[in-house]
Amino acid sequence: MNSFRTKITSLTVSIGIIICIAAVVFAFSISTLPALAASGEEAGDSLIVGVPTDRCPVFYLNADTKEITGIGTDLMRLAAENAGYSVSFKAVEEETLKDALDNPSYDLIMPFGSAIPSSSGKASIVSDNIMRTPFTLVTADSRSIRKFNDLHVGMLSSLAAGAETVRQMYPGMEISLYETMPECVKALRSGEVDALLHNSYVWSYVLQKPSYSDLTVQPTAMFSMDFRAGTPDTPEGQAIIARLNKGIASLSDTQRQAVILDHTSRKLYQYDLSDYIYQYGLAIIMSIILVILLAVITVQRIRAVKKSHEEKMRQLMDYDPMTGLYNMNGFRKRVEELLRTHPDAPYFLSYNNIRDFKFINDSLGREAGDELLKFWAERSAENLSEEDEAIGRIDADHFAVLRHIVEEERMREDEINVLTPVHDFFIDQGKEYRVQICSGIYVLTPKDFRNIDVDHMLDLARVAEKRVRDSRKGAFEFYNPEQWDKGKRIAEIINYLPAAIRAGDIQVWYQPQVNYETKMITGAEALCRWDHTKLGWLYPFDFISTLEEAGLIFDLDTFVWESVCRDLHRWNEQGEHRSVSVNVSRDDIRDDRDISDHFLNLVRTYDLTPDQLHIEITETAYVENPEILISTTEKLRTLGFQVEMDDFGSGYSSLHMLKEVPVDRIKLDLHFLTASGDREKSRIIVRNITRMINELGMNMIAEGVETEAQADFLKNIGCDEMQGYYFYKPMPVNEYEKLSGQIQENR
Ligand code: C2E
Ligand code: MG
Ligand code: MG
Repeated sequence: MNSFRTKITSLTVSIGIIICIAAVVFAFSISTLPALAASGEEAGDSLIVGVPTDRCPVFYLNADTKEITGIGTDLMRLAAENAGYSVSFKAVEEETLKDALDNPSYDLIMPFGSAIPSSSGKASIVSDNIMRTPFTLVTADSRSIRKFNDLHVGMLSSLAAGAETVRQMYPGMEISLYETMPECVKALRSGEVDALLHNSYVWSYVLQKPSYSDLTVQPTAMFSMDFRAGTPDTPEGQAIIARLNKGIASLSDTQRQAVILDHTSRKLYQYDLSDYIYQYGLAIIMSIILVILLAVITVQRIRAVKKSHEEKMRQLMDYDPMTGLYNMNGFRKRVEELLRTHPDAPYFLSYNNIRDFKFINDSLGREAGDELLKFWAERSAENLSEEDEAIGRIDADHFAVLRHIVEEERMREDEINVLTPVHDFFIDQGKEYRVQICSGIYVLTPKDFRNIDVDHMLDLARVAEKRVRDSRKGAFEFYNPEQWDKGKRIAEIINYLPAAIRAGDIQVWYQPQVNYETKMITGAEALCRWDHTKLGWLYPFDFISTLEEAGLIFDLDTFVWESVCRDLHRWNEQGEHRSVSVNVSRDDIRDDRDISDHFLNLVRTYDLTPDQLHIEITETAYVENPEILISTTEKLRTLGFQVEMDDFGSGYSSLHMLKEVPVDRIKLDLHFLTASGDREKSRIIVRNITRMINELGMNMIAEGVETEAQADFLKNIGCDEMQGYYFYKPMPVNEYEKLSGQIQENR
């Protein structure tokens, strides 16, 4: 029994082992079956195909996967798979497909129309035609093209291989290659080529570019080119091509059409920036303008808001909310500004205070007090010029005013217009209370304009106001009354000048100049006199310096010069060729003013010769501003005018001036030398100056000659030309004419 069992067991094990072995053998045979099947085929079943990627939709990169795709790749893949190949595509990095033929890392290159040698000259072979590719001409105008042979055609240089095929097809066709499509289009538009040639499928893509919409496709000028894969003509290459051809042969037309339709119906063209600009240019420009406009408006708005905010702040900082006048801060700023911009105006500053204002508030009520302040503010402001005067409520019941110095009548008018109604403010309301105002006045001096200190000036006005308050007498007091008179006089001169010139109140008088030797009148000096409506006859001493300070002297001088020229012209007409010396103020000569030009115009207008005008420039002027004075003098002399140095001896640099300044005549002021001091010393000085001037070869005239003794002395030392009271005083023009006439007759 045991042996039977043992036998059964060993049989079972043996069967198990056999089953296991059989299972392993079966499994092995199953796993090795395809390998065994394949072992019957040729080696090298995968192909690397080099293709361009810039020929959408034939060869291009999928926008999402970045894989090479297109009609060409799909058809190649179908053909290769039919031939039992697996295929992968690689972008050709060489410049042309001919170059790529020399790269052994590709098994195949495509597309070729025909077999062409590689760049290094190796022969190539090509596959059968994978599809017939339509090629189309595109032109810049719509004229249709019929003959291809004498055309000049542009193509992309990456199509160089295709171009060779085209050359074989149309030997008469001239082909130019361009790097990029924009260059091709540029050549077409400029007429460099007659047409562009490319694969029709590629045109269907390229011509979607908006800026190419004007190009015309020539449907009649279409021809087909083969679309083949190529490789160097080697035994391996021949084997690949032979096997691939079998796959190509089994490609059906339906498959071809399906692939072409698939890629040509996709929306492949993607707009770049230039396309958007071309298509939406106007809209983009309009949008940009709109955005800029909006930005500008916004910025302006922000500025306006900021400005109004600042304005409000300024209002708060500089104005008194109750009266609307400046507060102390604003008044100070405004006064500083006015004094800077009106440095020549005679101004006064008043500090005004309501007497017993506390009593008014307590007995009539605060509101009544406020009303009074407002009324006063309004009345005063009305009476002032906003442009160049100022008023401020500097605290409580204290008002400060900066005002031009005006004539007495105007002051009286102010009193009637402003002060009287303020005094009667409560009386007019039926209340028995007369308002009293105490005013302190400070008259500004030239120093106050140079060193502007509003608080200091107000302090001085306040001192005067206190005197009024303490005295309980007059309503106002001056801190500096003498300045008031001076200021008033300045105002009367400055304010009256224009009207005086117009009215002929300013006259030109002539003081004859004589030759003491011959006793003849040799010339005259023009000196102005002013018959002032209010102040009576004024002499230059009374107003020249004021006009100089106020910057008005040029107005007066040009008037005098012109009057002189008019007289000279009249005398010329009468046959009297006279000469006259005119005075030039140092302030007439400035960088921005050419007085030589002014004089030249005058002699032209009045038909004079320049030597009839002797131009007197005072010696001190040369000291103050030598350069411009010397250049002006030189210019005047070049133009033929006689230039004289006036008041020689009155300045401090006479001798130095003699050396530096080119003048025709020196006018020695005897008055300065003889007025005081040792007479004998004066004589020595005059004698030596005269000798020196003569030796320097300059002319000389002595002015201020008052006595015969002086005249004789001058003659003895060699100075014959003289001017002075001893001979004649300045006289009106008609007297001078009469005098000259008499002398003429006595000759
Ligand atoms: P100046 O140019 O030196 O003129 C001579 C001044 O001396 C004149 O005074 C004249 O009347 C005065 N005079 C003449 N002979 C004698 C004399 O024997 N003794 C004395 N003591 N004085 C004599 P006037 O006319 O008052 O002019 C004064 C100054 O005013 C002039 O001095 C001149 O610098 C200036 N001036 C006069 N007219 C004008 C003008 O139209 N424009 C400018 N810018 N300045 C003028
Ligand atoms: Mg003079
Ligand atoms: Mg003089």
